[in-house]
Amino acid sequence: MLRISQVKTRDTDRRSIEHALMKKLGLKNGDLKHWTIYRRSVDARHHDVTFSWIIDAQLRNEARYLTKKDVRPTPEKPAPFRPKGVIALKTPPVVAGFGPAGMFAALDLAEHGYRPIVLERGQKIEQRRQDVDHFWKTGELDPESNVQFGEGGAGAFSDGKLTTRSRDPLVDELLETLHAHGATPDILVDAYPHIGTDAFEAIIQSIRRRILELGGEIRFGARLEEVKIEDDRLTAINVNGRWEPCQALILALGHSA
Ligand SMILES: Cc1cc2nc3c(=O)[nH]c(=O)nc-3n(C[C@H](O)[C@H](O)[C@H](O)COP(=O)(O)OP(=O)(O)OC[C@H]3O[C@@H](n4cnc5c(N)ncnc54)[C@H](O)[C@@H]3O)c2cc1C
Repeated sequence: MLRISQVKTRDTDRRSIEHALMKKLGLKNGDLKHWTIYRRSVDARHHDVTFSWIIDAQLRNEARYLTKKDVRPTPEKPAPFRPKGVIALKTPPVVAGFGPAGMFAALDLAEHGYRPIVLERGQKIEQRRQDVDHFWKTGELDPESNVQFGEGGAGAFSDGKLTTRSRDPLVDELLETLHAHGATPDILVDAYPHIGTDAFEAIIQSIRRRILELGGEIRFGARLEEVKIEDDRLTAINVNGRWEPCQALILALGHSA
């Protein structure tokens, strides 16, 4: 499989893209077996809007085309880093914080059969939206449920673009997960993917449902306050002033905390 960048078109239909690809590579008829779009970007700086595509293509005689400009082998998908535990846990793993980091950690744990407990100091997104609206109208701040704290995390009420580490190859899996939970398929190919705040709320609810379906537990209004470490091991956590046993904890608290 080869990855070909800088395939330019004026239109977005498959015929136009395929034509531009064939022309760019000087492909012989029958050498193009199969192709998919890896990324799409739009150049609107000039009068004419053009689209630039990165294409993954399966070709006959691939070696012949490898020497061409903007052509390289399609990189292998990196295997996600998922170490397996070696000690049987007596208590479920705990994820503190239910922003993007905590949501993906808890979802991954749940998908792998771990039944995590999520602690989120703020409220679920529906209640949080009301708390944020109340703040904008009255200026009264709820210190636990606001623009920074609550389900969905710090950026939940912002623009909804997905900028962080968008060039990291592991991001593909993240985008696929967001798509599986309702995000537009455009995010899978757009060079600057954008979810939109309104869509984000439904995606958050869908991820929450999935974690619960898989046996996870999500506690809102639950603030992690302290951890107990004995003989170099985590043994307990303090949630809202009460201690409970805990052996494995992911801190996904963001930086506002
Ligand atoms: C106003 C704003 C706009 C943004 N816009 C964008 C954007 O458009 N696109 C983009 O890609 N990025 C955006 N970002 C950045 C993005 O929001 C962060 O990169 C992302 O939220 C970090 O995720 P996180 O899970 O690490 O932390 P956070 O999202 O901060 O989540 C941490 C969670 O932990 C909870 N928590 C904290 N302390 C405790 C505790 N002791 N116990 C239990 N729970 C706790 C918090 O309530 C929170 O829900 C924006 C950030 C802000 C502040």
